[in-house]
Amino acid sequence: MMDIYSLSLEELTEILVDKDLERYRGDQVFDWLYKKQVRTFDDMTNLPKQARKELSVSFSMSPMKELAREVSEDGTEKSLYMLEDGHLIESVIIRHPDRTTLCISTQVGCPMKCPFCATGQSGYVRDLTIGEIVFQAVELERSMEPTVGTNIVFMGMGEPLLNLENVLKAISILNSPKGRAMGVRRFTISTLGIPDGIRAIAERAPAVKLSISLHSPNDTMRSKLVPLNKTYGLKELFAALEDYVERTGNRLTFEYVLMDGMNDSVKDARDLSELIAGLPAYVNIIPLNPTQSLIRRPSDEKVVEFCEELHERGVEAFVRIEKGKDIEAACGQLRLRYLEGGEFDKKNR
Ligand code: SF4
Repeated sequence: MMDIYSLSLEELTEILVDKDLERYRGDQVFDWLYKKQVRTFDDMTNLPKQARKELSVSFSMSPMKELAREVSEDGTEKSLYMLEDGHLIESVIIRHPDRTTLCISTQVGCPMKCPFCATGQSGYVRDLTIGEIVFQAVELERSMEPTVGTNIVFMGMGEPLLNLENVLKAISILNSPKGRAMGVRRFTISTLGIPDGIRAIAERAPAVKLSISLHSPNDTMRSKLVPLNKTYGLKELFAALEDYVERTGNRLTFEYVLMDGMNDSVKDARDLSELIAGLPAYVNIIPLNPTQSLIRRPSDEKVVEFCEELHERGVEAFVRIEKGKDIEAACGQLRLRYLEGGEFDKKNR
């Protein structure tokens, strides 16, 4: 059965026309899927009964099911989903006073092996399909009714630029004016920084914003924290970022996970300010959310010192308020706990 969430409006309409349905039925189905977000074809009550029956034998409407949901004291909600082949992924709703961010996964596991990340520790399985990416947004929004997400960030499990075709198609489906109609500027791709992928976004989806997981301003330490840096060092990364900024005019975000004794010195802050000078950017400083790795979170004093050094050098930097700390909202932690058969709150399933 074809996953209906993997189809653009145009593709869906052509399939419906081939099934002898009127062309406008495509618009109606898209409206039910993305505006009304119904769960079954039977709920699409302005379609003839025979058409609904035909659709239900041709298309799947549920590429995954929720296994667990954890809600943090600060309103962050994390969902663990099982895909049709039994693999697990996570998606998160992060609430801010002025917006609600949907944090979406793009791969099962991740091949990038960042040592401080639970997903990186559990390895890579496969890329998510277009429908699996789109459906996460639909399913999260269903759980939020009557509110909706204000923006989407591809910052869950996986490196989005390694699954770029499916990510871009998912964005175009969620952007469709006849469906969810989420503006392209509301999407952010969070990446370690693969130069070809960065240039492809600049060319093919210039309104999509970029967030770069930098974590160190020098190649030696960054290669330890981000193994990809051994393939694409800072020089290549920043050449691609300059091209991206020149082409799109967008401001960049640099994510900087602060780790005790590794990348949190005043000199690191100085080097960072020099590295990003000249680019329109701000820095999100994120004190490490402890996983099972041996790397530790710095003291609050060191976090403040690092941030102040950046401010003194004219860098716009914020310490990101941690969300969902009590439910382990950092990517991959809930899945890892489940895979390892650790204590798991079954009542939430
Ligand atoms: S931090 Fe991101 S890129 Fe690195 S292993 Fe984890 S999911 Fe992959």
